[in-house]
This record gives sequence, structure tokens and C-alpha cells, in this order.
Amino acid sequence: MDDSGARFDELMAALKARGSRLTPQRVELVRLIAASDGHPSAAQLYARIKRRFPNLSQATVYKTLSLLKDMDQVLEIELRGDSRYDGHRPEPHSHLICLRCERIMDGDSGLEPAAIRKQEQASGYKILRSQVSFYGLCPECRKPSTVKRKGER
Ligand SMILES: [Zn+2]
Ligand SMILES: [Zn+2]
Repeated sequence: MDDSGARFDELMAALKARGSRLTPQRVELVRLIAASDGHPSAAQLYARIKRRFPNLSQATVYKTLSLLKDMDQVLEIELRGDSRYDGHRPEPHSHLICLRCERIMDGDSGLEPAAIRKQEQASGYKILRSQVSFYGLCPECRKPSTVKRKGER
């Protein structure tokens, strides 16, 4: 069983507390963000929601994501100019990113608050956001059959 229903309720409550206008389109968008199936990009979210709400603009998707990010409800994973988003697990956590197919998985080892505090003390920075990414090849892309595709060496 997944807990995206609970995440959806949390995100809706947070947006309501901010006084955000919640149109049916935006509610559907929040539902997709709560699930964040596969750490989608804004364009992927837009493509999914456009099927049901053709009038929704891509700007609304970006605005909603950036609002939720400012509220610490969504993590942004920066990936070669095309950010991906995680609204399912808002607390800082590491990600495993496949360099070949760009599949993103949640990592286990996280960002310990104690380590971040130590970093702050040593540098004098006030750390507001942190991100740990591990780049490599996912299990699917490590399979010999996919590694040696035609025309690829
Ligand atoms: Zn892969
Ligand atoms: Zn994640």
C-alpha cells in the first residue's frame, strides 16, 4: 500500500493554510505531485495533467512546484537543466541517478542533521538546502544486453 493519499492531504492542508486558490486543475496537479511517481520533471507532470485538463498552462505547473518547494514540501533534484521533483518524501534524502536512462531512486543514506550542523560551524554558512546525489547506472542499464546495444560501444 502506498501513502500518497496521506501526502496529498498534507500538501492540500499546507496550500490551504497559505490561502492558495485551489482550482480542480491544481488539485489534480497536487495529487500527481504527492505521488511523484518516478521523480517526474515539470514537463512530465504537465504531460500527465494535460490529458485531463488541456487548459492548464505549463506556467501553473512551474508556479505550483516552486511554491511547494519554497514551503519545503517538494524536493528539487537538479539534473542537467531539467529539474526533477519529489513531493512524496519532502524531507532531505539522497538520490541515485542513472546516467543512461535518468531513472531516479531514493537512496538510503541521508543527510544527517548533525553533519549539516558541523558543516555550518566549519564554514560559517547558514545552510538552507542540501542535496546529495549518487550518479551511476541503474540495475536495468547494467544488464549486459542493454549495455551493448547496436551502434553503441
Ligand atoms: Zn538506467
Ligand atoms: Zn526522492
